[in-house]
Amino acid sequence: MNRKFTDPFLPPERLLLGPGPSPVAPEVLKAMAHSTIGHLDPAFIGLMDELKAMLQTCFNTKNEATFTVAGPGSVGMDACVLNMVEAGDKILIARNGVFGMRMSEVASRGGAVVVPLDFEWGKPVEAAAVDAALAADKDIKFVAFVHAETSTGVLSDAKAIAAAAAKHGAMVIMDAVTSVGGVPVKIDEWGVDVVYTGTQKCISCPPGLSPVSFSPRAIEHIKNRKTKVLSWFLDVTQVMAYWGGEGARAYHHTAPINALYGLHEALRRVLVEGLDTAFARHKKAHLHLVAEVKKRGWEMLVDEAYRLPQLNAIKIPAGVDDAKVRRSLLLDHNIEIGAGLGVLAGKVWRIGLMGEGARVEHVDTLFAALDKVLKG
Ligand SMILES: *Cc1c(COP(=O)(O)O)cnc(C)c1O
Repeated sequence: MNRKFTDPFLPPERLLLGPGPSPVAPEVLKAMAHSTIGHLDPAFIGLMDELKAMLQTCFNTKNEATFTVAGPGSVGMDACVLNMVEAGDKILIARNGVFGMRMSEVASRGGAVVVPLDFEWGKPVEAAAVDAALAADKDIKFVAFVHAETSTGVLSDAKAIAAAAAKHGAMVIMDAVTSVGGVPVKIDEWGVDVVYTGTQKCISCPPGLSPVSFSPRAIEHIKNRKTKVLSWFLDVTQVMAYWGGEGARAYHHTAPINALYGLHEALRRVLVEGLDTAFARHKKAHLHLVAEVKKRGWEMLVDEAYRLPQLNAIKIPAGVDDAKVRRSLLLDHNIEIGAGLGVLAGKVWRIGLMGEGARVEHVDTLFAALDKVLKG
Protein backbone atom coordinates (compact mmCIF):
# COMPACT_ATOMS: atom_id res chain seq x y z
CA MET A 1 0.00 0.00 0.00
CA ASN A 2 1.63 3.17 -1.19
CA ARG A 3 -1.11 5.57 -0.24
CA LYS A 4 -0.34 9.27 -0.10
CA PHE A 5 -2.52 11.49 2.03
CA THR A 6 -3.33 13.44 -1.11
CA ASP A 7 -4.94 10.34 -2.65
CA PRO A 8 -8.74 10.34 -2.51
CA PHE A 9 -10.11 8.38 0.42
CA LEU A 10 -12.34 5.46 -0.50
CA PRO A 11 -13.95 3.76 2.48
CA PRO A 12 -14.45 -0.01 2.40
CA GLU A 13 -18.02 -1.30 1.95
CA ARG A 14 -19.16 -2.59 5.33
CA LEU A 15 -22.39 -3.97 6.68
CA LEU A 16 -22.93 -1.93 9.85
CA LEU A 17 -24.55 -4.14 12.50
CA GLY A 18 -23.04 -2.46 15.55
CA PRO A 19 -24.46 0.08 18.01
CA GLY A 20 -24.29 2.86 15.38
CA PRO A 21 -23.73 4.22 12.87
CA SER A 22 -26.27 2.09 11.02
CA PRO A 23 -26.31 1.44 7.25
CA VAL A 24 -27.21 4.51 5.19
CA ALA A 25 -29.40 4.16 2.09
CA PRO A 26 -27.85 5.30 -1.22
CA GLU A 27 -30.75 7.75 -1.60
CA VAL A 28 -29.65 9.53 1.58
CA LEU A 29 -26.03 9.73 0.43
CA LYS A 30 -27.20 11.03 -2.93
CA ALA A 31 -29.33 13.70 -1.26
CA MET A 32 -26.27 14.86 0.67
CA ALA A 33 -24.36 15.30 -2.59
CA HIS A 34 -26.77 17.96 -3.91
CA SER A 35 -25.44 21.49 -4.43
CA THR A 36 -24.91 23.50 -1.30
CA ILE A 37 -27.19 26.55 -1.05
CA GLY A 38 -27.17 29.41 1.44
CA HIS A 39 -28.60 28.72 4.86
CA LEU A 40 -30.89 31.76 4.63
CA ASP A 41 -32.07 30.85 1.11
CA PRO A 42 -35.90 30.59 1.06
CA ALA A 43 -35.55 27.07 -0.40
CA PHE A 44 -33.46 26.05 2.60
CA ILE A 45 -35.87 27.64 5.06
CA GLY A 46 -38.60 25.55 3.43
CA LEU A 47 -36.51 22.43 4.00
CA MET A 48 -36.05 23.31 7.68
CA ASP A 49 -39.81 23.75 8.10
CA GLU A 50 -40.42 20.32 6.59
CA LEU A 51 -37.76 18.79 8.83
CA LYS A 52 -39.48 20.25 11.86
CA ALA A 53 -42.81 18.68 10.85
CA MET A 54 -41.14 15.32 10.22
CA LEU A 55 -39.37 15.40 13.58
CA GLN A 56 -42.63 16.30 15.35
CA THR A 57 -44.13 13.17 13.78
CA CYS A 58 -41.20 10.99 14.91
CA PHE A 59 -41.38 12.29 18.50
CA ASN A 60 -45.22 12.33 18.47
CA THR A 61 -45.30 15.92 19.64
CA LYS A 62 -46.86 19.27 18.89
CA ASN A 63 -43.89 21.05 20.51
CA GLU A 64 -43.01 24.19 18.52
CA ALA A 65 -39.46 23.90 19.83
CA THR A 66 -38.53 20.88 17.74
CA PHE A 67 -35.39 21.15 15.62
CA THR A 68 -31.91 19.73 15.13
CA VAL A 69 -28.76 20.72 16.93
CA ALA A 70 -25.60 20.56 14.83
CA GLY A 71 -23.58 17.76 16.35
CA PRO A 72 -24.01 14.08 17.21
CA GLY A 73 -26.29 12.63 19.90
CA SER A 74 -23.91 13.67 22.66
CA VAL A 75 -24.37 17.32 21.66
CA GLY A 76 -28.13 16.80 21.98
CA MET A 77 -27.46 15.50 25.49
CA ASP A 78 -25.40 18.59 26.30
CA ALA A 79 -28.09 20.86 24.82
CA CYS A 80 -30.97 19.26 26.71
CA VAL A 81 -29.30 18.93 30.09
CA LEU A 82 -27.41 22.24 30.11
CA ASN A 83 -30.42 24.30 29.06
CA MET A 84 -32.50 22.89 31.90
CA VAL A 85 -30.13 22.80 34.87
CA GLU A 86 -28.56 25.72 36.71
CA ALA A 87 -25.81 25.56 39.31
CA GLY A 88 -27.14 23.95 42.48
CA ASP A 89 -30.24 22.39 40.87
CA LYS A 90 -30.92 18.82 41.93
CA ILE A 91 -31.36 16.30 39.14
CA LEU A 92 -32.20 12.64 39.61
CA ILE A 93 -30.38 10.58 37.02
CA ALA A 94 -31.50 6.99 36.59
CA ARG A 95 -28.49 5.01 35.37
CA ASN A 96 -28.52 1.53 33.90
CA GLY A 97 -25.68 1.80 31.40
CA VAL A 98 -23.06 3.98 29.76
CA PHE A 99 -25.33 6.77 28.60
CA GLY A 100 -26.95 7.39 31.97
CA MET A 101 -23.43 7.75 33.35
CA ARG A 102 -22.63 10.25 30.60
CA MET A 103 -25.74 12.29 31.46
CA SER A 104 -24.49 12.52 35.06
CA GLU A 105 -21.17 13.83 33.84
CA VAL A 106 -22.87 16.47 31.69
CA ALA A 107 -25.19 17.60 34.49
CA SER A 108 -22.42 17.84 37.07
CA ARG A 109 -20.26 19.87 34.68
CA GLY A 110 -23.25 22.20 34.42
CA GLY A 111 -23.06 22.69 38.19
CA ALA A 112 -26.10 20.56 38.98
CA VAL A 113 -26.26 18.35 42.06
CA VAL A 114 -26.63 14.85 40.64
CA VAL A 115 -28.72 12.42 42.67
CA PRO A 116 -27.82 9.05 41.15
CA LEU A 117 -30.30 6.19 41.00
CA ASP A 118 -28.44 3.10 39.85
CA PHE A 119 -29.76 -0.11 38.34
CA GLU A 120 -27.90 -3.21 37.32
CA TRP A 121 -26.60 -3.04 33.74
CA GLY A 122 -28.93 -5.19 31.64
CA LYS A 123 -31.98 -4.24 33.73
CA PRO A 124 -34.44 -1.40 33.09
CA VAL A 125 -35.02 1.76 35.12
CA GLU A 126 -37.85 1.10 37.59
CA ALA A 127 -40.53 3.75 37.84
CA ALA A 128 -41.31 2.75 41.44
CA ALA A 129 -37.71 3.48 42.45
CA VAL A 130 -37.90 6.87 40.70
CA ASP A 131 -41.11 7.59 42.63
CA ALA A 132 -39.49 6.61 45.95
CA ALA A 133 -36.36 8.69 45.28
CA LEU A 134 -38.46 11.76 44.47
CA ALA A 135 -40.62 11.23 47.56
CA ALA A 136 -37.46 11.10 49.68
CA ASP A 137 -36.07 14.39 48.36
CA LYS A 138 -38.52 17.17 47.55
CA ASP A 139 -35.79 19.44 46.16
CA ILE A 140 -35.25 17.35 43.04
CA LYS A 141 -36.34 19.39 40.02
CA PHE A 142 -35.54 17.05 37.15
CA VAL A 143 -35.56 13.36 36.28
CA ALA A 144 -33.31 12.17 33.48
CA PHE A 145 -33.09 8.69 31.99
CA VAL A 146 -32.20 6.77 28.84
CA HIS A 147 -35.20 5.27 27.05
CA ALA A 148 -33.20 2.72 25.04
CA GLU A 149 -29.82 1.89 26.63
CA THR A 150 -27.55 1.08 23.71
CA SER A 151 -24.80 -0.20 25.98
CA THR A 152 -26.97 -3.10 27.19
CA GLY A 153 -30.00 -3.41 24.88
CA VAL A 154 -32.61 -2.51 27.50
CA LEU A 155 -35.85 -0.59 26.97
CA SER A 156 -37.21 1.27 29.99
CA ASP A 157 -40.87 2.14 30.50
CA ALA A 158 -40.76 5.85 29.67
CA LYS A 159 -44.47 6.35 30.26
CA ALA A 160 -44.30 5.00 33.83
CA ILE A 161 -41.09 6.90 34.63
CA ALA A 162 -42.56 10.18 33.35
CA ALA A 163 -45.73 9.53 35.35
CA ALA A 164 -43.67 9.05 38.52
CA ALA A 165 -41.89 12.34 37.84
CA ALA A 166 -45.19 14.14 37.21
CA LYS A 167 -46.51 12.97 40.58
CA HIS A 168 -43.76 15.00 42.24
CA GLY A 169 -43.74 17.93 39.82
CA ALA A 170 -40.30 17.10 38.41
CA MET A 171 -39.52 17.79 34.77
CA VAL A 172 -38.43 14.93 32.56
CA ILE A 173 -35.37 14.76 30.29
CA MET A 174 -35.21 11.67 28.08
CA ASP A 175 -32.45 10.24 25.91
CA ALA A 176 -34.16 8.79 22.83
CA VAL A 177 -31.03 8.42 20.70
CA THR A 178 -31.54 4.74 20.00
CA SER A 179 -35.31 4.59 20.41
CA VAL A 180 -36.59 6.98 17.71
CA GLY A 181 -37.39 5.02 14.56
CA GLY A 182 -37.00 1.63 16.26
CA VAL A 183 -39.68 1.61 18.97
CA PRO A 184 -42.61 3.99 19.69
CA VAL A 185 -41.72 7.37 21.20
CA LYS A 186 -44.71 9.47 22.32
CA ILE A 187 -43.38 12.39 24.28
CA ASP A 188 -46.60 14.44 24.55
CA GLU A 189 -48.70 11.49 25.69
CA TRP A 190 -46.05 10.39 28.18
CA GLY A 191 -45.30 13.88 29.49
CA VAL A 192 -41.61 14.07 28.55
CA ASP A 193 -40.47 17.71 28.69
CA VAL A 194 -37.15 17.49 26.92
CA VAL A 195 -35.91 14.85 24.49
CA TYR A 196 -32.94 14.35 22.19
CA THR A 197 -32.08 11.76 19.61
CA GLY A 198 -29.39 11.08 17.04
CA THR A 199 -29.46 10.46 13.32
CA GLN A 200 -27.15 7.47 12.99
CA LYS A 201 -29.12 4.85 14.89
CA CYS A 202 -32.65 3.88 13.76
CA ILE A 203 -33.04 6.84 11.39
CA SER A 204 -30.11 5.58 9.29
CA CYS A 205 -28.58 8.92 8.46
CA PRO A 206 -24.86 9.61 8.87
CA PRO A 207 -23.87 10.88 12.33
CA GLY A 208 -23.54 14.58 13.08
CA LEU A 209 -27.03 15.84 13.87
CA SER A 210 -29.13 15.70 16.98
CA PRO A 211 -32.89 16.28 16.75
CA VAL A 212 -34.31 17.72 19.99
CA SER A 213 -37.71 18.80 21.30
CA PHE A 214 -38.67 21.00 24.24
CA SER A 215 -42.19 21.24 25.69
CA PRO A 216 -43.74 24.70 26.20
CA ARG A 217 -43.18 24.17 29.95
CA ALA A 218 -39.49 23.47 29.35
CA ILE A 219 -39.13 26.59 27.19
CA GLU A 220 -40.85 28.66 29.86
CA HIS A 221 -38.42 27.21 32.41
CA ILE A 222 -35.42 28.10 30.23
CA LYS A 223 -36.69 31.66 29.67
CA ASN A 224 -36.97 32.11 33.44
CA ARG A 225 -33.45 30.92 34.23
CA LYS A 226 -31.55 33.15 36.63
CA THR A 227 -28.25 32.46 34.87
CA LYS A 228 -27.31 32.18 31.23
CA VAL A 229 -26.96 28.76 29.62
CA LEU A 230 -23.36 27.61 29.97
CA SER A 231 -22.86 27.20 26.23
CA TRP A 232 -23.49 30.02 23.79
CA PHE A 233 -23.90 27.67 20.84
CA LEU A 234 -26.39 25.40 22.57
CA ASP A 235 -28.56 28.11 24.15
CA VAL A 236 -31.93 26.85 22.96
CA THR A 237 -33.71 30.18 22.99
CA GLN A 238 -31.20 31.44 20.42
CA VAL A 239 -31.13 28.29 18.30
CA MET A 240 -34.93 28.43 18.21
CA ALA A 241 -34.91 31.92 16.80
CA TYR A 242 -32.80 30.52 13.97
CA TRP A 243 -35.21 27.62 13.35
CA GLY A 244 -38.30 29.72 13.97
CA GLY A 245 -39.57 29.99 10.39
CA GLU A 246 -39.75 32.98 8.07
CA GLY A 247 -39.54 36.42 9.65
CA ALA A 248 -38.30 35.09 12.96
CA ARG A 249 -35.10 33.75 11.43
CA ALA A 250 -31.95 35.42 12.63
CA TYR A 251 -28.39 34.39 11.88
CA HIS A 252 -27.12 32.22 14.69
CA HIS A 253 -24.73 29.74 13.12
CA THR A 254 -24.36 28.26 9.64
CA ALA A 255 -26.50 25.15 9.49
CA PRO A 256 -24.81 21.95 8.25
CA ILE A 257 -26.72 22.31 5.00
CA ASN A 258 -25.86 19.08 3.19
CA ALA A 259 -26.21 17.04 6.36
CA LEU A 260 -29.75 18.39 6.67
CA TYR A 261 -30.50 17.34 3.06
CA GLY A 262 -29.51 13.86 4.18
CA LEU A 263 -31.69 13.97 7.28
CA HIS A 264 -34.65 15.12 5.20
CA GLU A 265 -34.25 12.13 2.89
CA ALA A 266 -33.69 9.69 5.78
CA LEU A 267 -36.79 10.91 7.65
CA ARG A 268 -38.80 10.95 4.44
CA ARG A 269 -37.91 7.29 3.92
CA VAL A 270 -38.93 6.40 7.49
CA LEU A 271 -42.25 8.26 7.21
CA VAL A 272 -43.08 6.94 3.73
CA GLU A 273 -42.52 3.42 5.05
CA GLY A 274 -44.56 4.38 8.13
CA LEU A 275 -43.31 4.38 11.71
CA ASP A 276 -45.42 1.36 12.68
CA THR A 277 -44.16 -0.62 9.70
CA ALA A 278 -40.59 0.31 10.61
CA PHE A 279 -41.14 -0.82 14.23
CA ALA A 280 -42.55 -4.14 12.97
CA ARG A 281 -39.54 -4.59 10.67
CA HIS A 282 -37.17 -4.05 13.61
CA LYS A 283 -39.12 -6.57 15.67
CA LYS A 284 -39.11 -9.16 12.90
CA ALA A 285 -35.35 -8.92 12.37
CA HIS A 286 -34.83 -9.07 16.15
CA LEU A 287 -36.98 -12.19 16.61
CA HIS A 288 -35.09 -13.84 13.76
CA LEU A 289 -31.81 -13.04 15.53
CA VAL A 290 -33.06 -14.42 18.84
CA ALA A 291 -34.10 -17.65 17.08
CA GLU A 292 -30.61 -17.97 15.55
CA VAL A 293 -29.03 -17.36 18.97
CA LYS A 294 -31.18 -20.08 20.54
CA LYS A 295 -30.45 -22.51 17.70
CA ARG A 296 -26.78 -22.30 18.63
CA GLY A 297 -27.46 -22.74 22.34
CA TRP A 298 -26.33 -19.19 23.10
CA GLU A 299 -28.06 -16.68 25.37
CA MET A 300 -29.28 -13.10 25.22
CA LEU A 301 -28.13 -10.79 28.04
CA VAL A 302 -31.47 -9.09 28.56
CA ASP A 303 -34.81 -10.62 29.64
CA GLU A 304 -37.41 -10.83 26.89
CA ALA A 305 -39.78 -8.46 28.72
CA TYR A 306 -37.58 -5.41 28.18
CA ARG A 307 -35.33 -6.35 25.27
CA LEU A 308 -34.71 -3.74 22.60
CA PRO A 309 -35.28 -5.03 19.08
CA GLN A 310 -32.70 -2.65 17.65
CA LEU A 311 -29.81 -3.51 19.99
CA ASN A 312 -29.17 -7.14 20.80
CA ALA A 313 -26.64 -8.05 23.48
CA ILE A 314 -25.59 -11.68 23.02
CA LYS A 315 -23.55 -13.40 25.74
CA ILE A 316 -20.25 -14.43 24.16
CA PRO A 317 -20.04 -18.25 24.21
CA ALA A 318 -17.41 -19.69 26.57
CA GLY A 319 -13.92 -20.10 25.15
CA VAL A 320 -14.47 -17.68 22.27
CA ASP A 321 -11.87 -14.95 21.62
CA ASP A 322 -14.09 -11.84 21.47
CA ALA A 323 -11.65 -9.43 19.83
CA LYS A 324 -10.48 -12.01 17.28
CA VAL A 325 -14.03 -12.80 16.20
CA ARG A 326 -14.96 -9.15 15.78
CA ARG A 327 -11.77 -8.43 13.88
CA SER A 328 -12.35 -11.32 11.49
CA LEU A 329 -15.99 -10.36 10.97
CA LEU A 330 -14.87 -6.86 10.04
CA LEU A 331 -11.77 -7.56 7.95
CA ASP A 332 -12.67 -10.90 6.35
CA HIS A 333 -16.44 -10.47 6.05
CA ASN A 334 -16.95 -6.68 6.08
CA ILE A 335 -19.42 -6.86 8.95
CA GLU A 336 -19.17 -4.55 11.94
CA ILE A 337 -20.66 -5.55 15.30
CA GLY A 338 -20.18 -3.89 18.68
CA ALA A 339 -18.13 -4.90 21.70
CA GLY A 340 -19.40 -4.86 25.28
CA LEU A 341 -18.81 -1.64 27.19
CA GLY A 342 -17.79 -1.07 30.81
CA VAL A 343 -18.69 -4.02 33.02
CA LEU A 344 -19.87 -5.90 29.94
CA ALA A 345 -16.57 -5.62 28.05
CA GLY A 346 -15.55 -9.08 26.80
CA LYS A 347 -18.86 -10.53 28.00
CA VAL A 348 -21.27 -9.58 25.21
CA TRP A 349 -21.49 -8.76 21.54
CA ARG A 350 -23.80 -5.92 20.68
CA ILE A 351 -25.64 -6.49 17.44
CA GLY A 352 -27.40 -3.43 16.13
CA LEU A 353 -30.38 -4.03 13.88
CA MET A 354 -31.04 -0.36 13.39
CA GLY A 355 -32.89 1.44 10.63
CA GLU A 356 -31.80 0.08 7.25
CA GLY A 357 -29.89 -2.62 9.12
CA ALA A 358 -33.07 -4.14 10.59
CA ARG A 359 -33.59 -6.82 7.96
CA VAL A 360 -33.86 -10.59 8.26
CA GLU A 361 -31.38 -11.07 5.39
CA HIS A 362 -28.72 -9.06 7.26
CA VAL A 363 -29.20 -11.34 10.28
CA ASP A 364 -28.67 -14.35 7.99
CA THR A 365 -25.54 -12.79 6.48
CA LEU A 366 -24.18 -12.13 9.97
CA PHE A 367 -24.78 -15.64 11.31
CA ALA A 368 -23.36 -17.30 8.18
CA ALA A 369 -20.19 -15.24 8.68
CA LEU A 370 -20.12 -15.85 12.45
CA ASP A 371 -20.37 -19.62 11.94
CA LYS A 372 -17.44 -19.51 9.52
CA VAL A 373 -15.32 -17.39 11.84
CA LEU A 374 -16.05 -19.60 14.85
CA LYS A 375 -15.13 -22.74 12.89
CA GLY A 376 -11.80 -21.03 12.37
C1 LIG B 1 -25.19 6.72 20.59
C2 LIG B 1 -25.86 7.22 21.80
C3 LIG B 1 -25.60 8.49 22.35
C4 LIG B 1 -24.54 9.39 21.83
O1 LIG B 1 -24.69 9.68 20.49
P1 LIG B 1 -23.41 10.10 19.62
O2 LIG B 1 -24.03 10.37 18.29
O3 LIG B 1 -22.50 8.93 19.63
O4 LIG B 1 -22.80 11.29 20.23
C5 LIG B 1 -26.32 8.88 23.45
N1 LIG B 1 -27.24 8.09 24.01
C6 LIG B 1 -27.52 6.86 23.53
C7 LIG B 1 -28.55 6.02 24.19
C8 LIG B 1 -26.82 6.38 22.42
O5 LIG B 1 -27.08 5.18 21.94
